Amino acid sequence: MDATESDHPASRSINTERAAELVTALARVRARIADAATSVGRQLGSVTLIAVTKGFAATDLEILLGLGVTDIGESRDQEARAKLPDDIGGRSVRVHFIGQLQTNKCRSVARYASAVHSVDRPELVAALGDAAQRLDRRLDVFVQVNLDEPGQQKASRGGVAAGELTALAEQVTQHSTLNLRGVMAVAPNGGDTALAFARLNRLSVELQQQYPQAGAISAGMSGDFELAIQHGATHVRVGSALLGQRPDTFG
Ligand SMILES: *Cc1c(COP(=O)(O)O)cnc(C)c1O
Repeated sequence: MDATESDHPASRSINTERAAELVTALARVRARIADAATSVGRQLGSVTLIAVTKGFAATDLEILLGLGVTDIGESRDQEARAKLPDDIGGRSVRVHFIGQLQTNKCRSVARYASAVHSVDRPELVAALGDAAQRLDRRLDVFVQVNLDEPGQQKASRGGVAAGELTALAEQVTQHSTLNLRGVMAVAPNGGDTALAFARLNRLSVELQQQYPQAGAISAGMSGDFELAIQHGATHVRVGSALLGQRPDTFG
């Protein structure tokens, strides 16, 4: 390691500046979460902030962890593997995998993730259950639900149809290595976001009638997390409101 380079005053000041930026952004997001929760009479502790670090440098991730962030979100296996600190498993940090996932990546994801939010088909349930078993790990599972309105023209954001939620959830419960935690969704493009989150909440209530342990709702991103909290979200996935604008190649 080149000490002269890392000790250079310029690089030190850039990091300090970035850290100051993230301190402010994190405080602001936490305050907005608190306001949204109290506005509907919810306890602050009932909402988990997942800092979505996809597309940002490992140094940003380290800054956030240093500020006490306990939950981080990544959506691409290759990037996450390269970026996460080697000792992540030894820290009290949970990594949430939130992106579309191919079955051949499950072994890799199960090594560092505590939770997968994008579970949307039986093959993925089987592959995750198997991967967790081989690694002797347990994984929290959120079943992703599609909230698009029928006949909607815009590209789908993924997820199972509402009518298939219970069947997929049941498959999750067949694996001793998977914990069914609840539902996840992304608000439809151009649809009525409040209606969509209300619908997700109803689906969650229905699911809990059969699976009382599945009370978590992963919903809300930078543009709509307050609305999601008002509709019962227990996990909000916030990227750009914390870290700024991502490069274009990221959705
Ligand atoms: C990128 C991403 C987020 C975070 O989006 P922001 O708008 O930057 O907050 C949340 N959820 C999923 C599934 C994502 O892919």
